[in-house]
Amino acid sequence: MTTPSITTPDTTTTPAEHSPLATAHAQLAAAVRHLGYDEGLHANLATPRREIHVSVPLRMDSGEVRLFRGFRVQHNVSRGPGKGGLRFHPDVDIDEVRALAMWMTWKCAIVDLPYGGAKGGVTIDPRDHSRAELERVTRRYTSEIMPMIGPDTDIMAPDMGTDERTMAWVMDTYSVNRGYTIPAVVTGKPIAVGGSLGRGTATSAGIVHVTEAALRQAGERLEGTRIAIQGFGKVGGHAAEIFAARGARVVAVSDQYGGVRADDGLDVARLVQHVAATGSVVDFEDADPVSNTELLALDVDVLVPAAIQGVIDETTAQHVRARFVVEGANGPTTTAGDEILAKNGITVVPDVLANAGGVVVSYFEWVQANQAYWWTAEEISEKLAHRMVTAYQDVAEHARRDGLSLRDAALTIGVQRVAEAHKIRGLYP
Ligand code: NAD
Repeated sequence: MTTPSITTPDTTTTPAEHSPLATAHAQLAAAVRHLGYDEGLHANLATPRREIHVSVPLRMDSGEVRLFRGFRVQHNVSRGPGKGGLRFHPDVDIDEVRALAMWMTWKCAIVDLPYGGAKGGVTIDPRDHSRAELERVTRRYTSEIMPMIGPDTDIMAPDMGTDERTMAWVMDTYSVNRGYTIPAVVTGKPIAVGGSLGRGTATSAGIVHVTEAALRQAGERLEGTRIAIQGFGKVGGHAAEIFAARGARVVAVSDQYGGVRADDGLDVARLVQHVAATGSVVDFEDADPVSNTELLALDVDVLVPAAIQGVIDETTAQHVRARFVVEGANGPTTTAGDEILAKNGITVVPDVLANAGGVVVSYFEWVQANQAYWWTAEEISEKLAHRMVTAYQDVAEHARRDGLSLRDAALTIGVQRVAEAHKIRGLYP
C-alpha cells in the first residue's frame, strides 16, 4: 500500500454559485467585513489548513470491485485538534467537505470548545450497500486517511449516512493499526466501546434548547408550539421526539421519500415505530401526505430543516411562513434564501449555533475517554443545556448590541475567537 500524501489545498478555483462552499465563503466575508480584518487574515480563515483526497476500493459482496472517492479536510486547528463528522452520501464532493469543515471551525468556537474544524466524506450511497460492504469501505477509508486523524489531531463523529456503528469500525481500524485501543479518536461511538450517554440525542436536544431560548426571548413558550421538521434521521427524528415530549405539536415531518402532516399533531412515538418497520415516514396512518417543498411552506411557528443543505433558497424562502427557522442541518439556507427570510422578519437560529449540541456532547465524550471516567446522564444533560443556552444568550446579546442577525452575530463571535487564537499564537516560522 502506498502512503497517501497530504496536500496543501488548492482553493484558487471559485466554488459553484449556490454551493455550500459559496454560502460558507459569503458568510465568512460578511463576518470579516464586520470585524474589519485585512485580506491576509481573510485568506487564512477562508482556506483549509490541509486536506486529503483518497481512492477507496471496495470489494462488493458479489466479488466485483468498485472504486469510491473519499476526502478529509482540516479547515483550521488554531484552537485545538480538528473535529468533525464523516458523511456517506452520493453527492459528497471536496467543496462540500470544505464548507462543512469551515462551519465546524466556527461552531466549535461559538460553543467555546477547544477544537478546530474538520470534516470527511465518501461519495457513496449507503442505501445501496450491505452492512459488510459498509464496514469494508469504512475500514479502507480510515486506513487511507490514517496520517491525518488521531485523538490529538483530528477526531471524527457521525454525520449523514454514518452512525455509531461506523464510528466503532473507525476506532477499531485506527486502534488495531496503532496496537492498542484509542477510544478518543472518534466520538459518537457505542456506549459499549466508550461512547457517552446522551450523544445519540445531543444534536436534537440542543436544537430544542435553542428553540426554547428563541421563543422565550420573544415572550413565547414551547408548549403548544407548532413545528415542522424536514429530515427524520438522527437529528430530525430525535428532535421530533423531544419536541413532542416537551409539549410542542409536531405537525409535519419528511424524509427523502416524502412527508406526512397532521394539523393536530403527529403521534411521534407511533411514527418512530412506523419508520422502524418501513424505513420511511411515508404512508404513516392518521396523517396526510406532504411533499418536502410543501413542508417548507407550512403555516407553523417553527420550521426545522434537518436533512440536507441548500433547501431554503431564493425560491422556497419566499413561501416560508414559519416565524422561526431553527437550522438542524448544516447549510440548509443559501445566502439569497437568508436575505429573503430576513426581509420577511423571520428569525433564523443558524446551524453553527442550533445544531452544535452534537459536538458539545462529542467534546464531553472525548474528555471522558481521555480521563477514562464516565459521567452520568444527568450531568451530561445539565452541562449540554448550560452550554447551549449560554451560547444562545451570547449570540442574541451580540446581535442586539451590533444590530446583526443571529447568523451574523454567531459567525462574528466564532470567526473572532479563531482569529484571536491565530494572532496570539503568531506565525511559524
Ligand atoms: P441522517 O442520515 O441520520 O438523516 C438524514 C435525513 O434526511 C433522513 O431522514 C433522510 O431521509 C433525509 N433526507 C436526505 N436527503 C433528503 C432530501 N433530499 N430531502 C428530504 N430529506 C432528505 O443524517 P443526520 O445525522 O440526521 O444529519 C442531518 C443533517 O444534520 C445534516 O446536514 C448533518 O450535517 C447535520 N448535523 C448532524 C449532526 C449529528 O449529530 N448527526 C450534528 C450536526 C449537524
